[in-house]
Amino acid sequence: MKLPRNSKEDKLASLVYKLVLESGEKGVLQSELWKKLNLTSRDGSRIATRLEKRKLIKREKVLEDGRWTYLLRPVSMPISVKAIMRAPCINCPFIAKCYPDGQVSPRTCTKLERWVISEYESFLAGVVVDEA
Ligand code: SF4
Repeated sequence: MKLPRNSKEDKLASLVYKLVLESGEKGVLQSELWKKLNLTSRDGSRIATRLEKRKLIKREKVLEDGRWTYLLRPVSMPISVKAIMRAPCINCPFIAKCYPDGQVSPRTCTKLERWVISEYESFLAGVVVDEA
């Protein structure tokens, strides 16, 4: 993704998106996120709404300590074609014998695990959000 304008809000939106991605399926409470980023509830909500409109995150209303807030979760974990081309399975000599319950399995493959972690970390390092 590309950042066309270098505004403070664009950078904040990218940072919010990155932190939501890092929270994974578990998600993160927006109130905690705004505290961490020193954002007012109004500014934070505006950014969250913007990311939600772009279908990058989803917001779920939850009751936390007697107060309503939102849990923010990523809609999906993006992956690029380049990342797929780097997958170890493409040139793996064991691919014909590799299946979920086999002796060779993607469930236990350390090469696959390293690739997933590496691509995920690269993605997080380069996350920026386009103008809404
Ligand atoms: S999961 Fe591992 S063993 Fe299986 S095809 Fe991919 S790289 Fe090879």
